[in-house]
Amino acid sequence: MVLADLGKKINNAVSNAINSKDGNNESNIDLMLKEISTALIESDVNIKLVLNLRNKIKSKLIKSNLDGVNVKKNLIQKVVFDELVELVDTDKSDTFILTKKKLNIVMFVGLQGSGKTTSCTKFAVYYQRRGFKVGLICADTFRAGAFDQLKQNATRAKIPFFGSYTETNPIKVAQLGVEKFKREKFDLIIVDTSGRHKQEMDLFQEMVEIDQTIKPTQTIMVLDASIGQAAEIQSKAFKDSSNFGSIILTKLDGHAKGGGAISAVAITNTPIIFIGTGEHIQDFEKFQPKSFVSKLLGIGDLQGFMDHVQSLNFDNKDTLENFQRGKFTLNDFQKQMQNMLKMGPLTQIAGMIPGMGQAMEQIGEEETSNRLKRMVFIMDSMTKKELDSDGYIFVQQPERILRVARGSGTSSFEVELILYQQRMMSKIALQSKSMMDQQGQGQGQG
Ligand code: GDP
Repeated sequence: MVLADLGKKINNAVSNAINSKDGNNESNIDLMLKEISTALIESDVNIKLVLNLRNKIKSKLIKSNLDGVNVKKNLIQKVVFDELVELVDTDKSDTFILTKKKLNIVMFVGLQGSGKTTSCTKFAVYYQRRGFKVGLICADTFRAGAFDQLKQNATRAKIPFFGSYTETNPIKVAQLGVEKFKREKFDLIIVDTSGRHKQEMDLFQEMVEIDQTIKPTQTIMVLDASIGQAAEIQSKAFKDSSNFGSIILTKLDGHAKGGGAISAVAITNTPIIFIGTGEHIQDFEKFQPKSFVSKLLGIGDLQGFMDHVQSLNFDNKDTLENFQRGKFTLNDFQKQMQNMLKMGPLTQIAGMIPGMGQAMEQIGEEETSNRLKRMVFIMDSMTKKELDSDGYIFVQQPERILRVARGSGTSSFEVELILYQQRMMSKIALQSKSMMDQQGQGQGQG
């Protein structure tokens, strides 16, 4: 994933500080902050934001350590995690809500090549799966082939679409499309506008006119994560002309640095609502700041994983209920693994399991897939009692580990690894439950 290097560097800086032989004194903390700052700046995060983050982490750590004694390890981790979340979070992060009760007209803006048309279709499919009646409009009359591209995507995804080969006025096309879908009582009308090679005045003028004509209920800017620092200028220019309310960040599967896009979010105070993680329709995830930072730092993202599974309508009701109660048994793990192998793409899924994302980067997709299969074999070799347990039965009776390893044709080490991962996941389930208890349930986007 993009930013993977950044995550590794931050992790290293934090572990060096907390494992330092002479304790977590001020000079170790300063060194950690310097390393974190350098990593962020190298990833194109705006320098002012980095300095701000550095000062905030430091003052939080100093405040909690007034007597000069070593700062606690988990406090360092927590403060760094919280401040990174703050960087990608905005106070409006949970304000993007579409409901079926009213008409939603969503206009997409962004430069050519940013992934706008692809994201329109992904967005359409996301809401269609959630029961919305969705229509797509191609208001890009500038680029030859734009309508064909949208038509092809929409047809493949079975989404009704509207566009014209003959009408050259994009405002007119947008207007006709919106009128048609309104008459047909659609819940969600998505308008793809034209992008250009650079920020041209007439592009911005066109957006203003479309905006005034169709009066969108939401405007979303599509931003390519790989454009580095240019993201900030681009976002400001679009903000002035189209006043978008949210961002879809694309191409997070690539190897670009991505920090520029993060800065754009902070500087325009506009939330990211979805991220694009590949060229296919399913490579699209709801953006949640905590999940994002968890994945960035390689600590797994069970909440994102569960959201993903839920969106695929698998039969996993019991697991969800367990998870909401703060529980995650080996049986839940087994069901998720089986679903996962059906789900693909692996890159997206592996990053959500503690430790798997990094493993996949090192060993490649095929080997990861083999490992996932072996994990399923292991769990298939467990008894019902073992699967229904929280895993401690193996600690009390370690001979069970050997039996499972033999039965599944794997090693004790692999069995222990699964037990370790399940323990991490059940920890996340517990944390997530206490988080949900604090926030009150039922919040969220869409
Ligand atoms: P538009 O000109 O902004 O409408 O951009 P397109 O939707 O045509 O996308 C430009 C290119 O980026 C196409 O080749 C897409 O397949 C690709 N693309 C879009 N989103 C993603 C993404 O999240 N990841 C990757 N790897 N490619 C993407």
